[in-house]
Amino acid sequence: MKAMVLSEIAPIETAPLQLTDLPDPQPSAGQVRLRISCCAICRTDLHVIEGDLPREKLPIIPGHQVVGVVDAMGEGCKRLKVGQRVGVAWLRHTCGECEFCDSGRENLCGGQRFTGYHADGGYAELAVVDENFAYEIPEGFSDTSAAPLLCAGIVGYRAFKRSNPRDGAALAIYGFGSSAHVICQIALRVKGEVIL
Ligand SMILES: [Zn+2]
Ligand SMILES: [Zn+2]
Repeated sequence: MKAMVLSEIAPIETAPLQLTDLPDPQPSAGQVRLRISCCAICRTDLHVIEGDLPREKLPIIPGHQVVGVVDAMGEGCKRLKVGQRVGVAWLRHTCGECEFCDSGRENLCGGQRFTGYHADGGYAELAVVDENFAYEIPEGFSDTSAAPLLCAGIVGYRAFKRSNPRDGAALAIYGFGSSAHVICQIALRVKGEVIL
């Protein structure tokens, strides 16, 4: 497959991602493989590429807002089918046993692993992910509309819900990035007034 590979941490101005031919990844037991149609860009990708986050896997294929179609499945996969459209997000593994995983707060799990950081992500033709961390994408979204929901949308929607906005109340958003550009649309539809 072809992929955009980061081999060394470097400023983005130096174009550190290199188009590279790699062997097709094979799904392990419990994993599915996607043929990727698109992958949105997140500020965190820049943090990975420029080394603002501690160095993990290198070389690495960044990208963690991945949309594609399942084209191969490892042993034991049950939920998804070949040909189904799915998305892959930043969070790709948690321990499944700690108090956070047990209480619907797996984003706080100490055993979490991230797409495009601990494992290869979506700037490629193919990617593998645990079936449990592949999200079915409903009809009604184009691939490119769905992709930003897989990080910007998840992060923003969680913050929106935690702000517990009341009907008729104004919602203030501090800062404006990819999460805000998704959530202000939802907030305007649901609540009516957004202050940026
Ligand atoms: Zn992100
Ligand atoms: Zn956990």
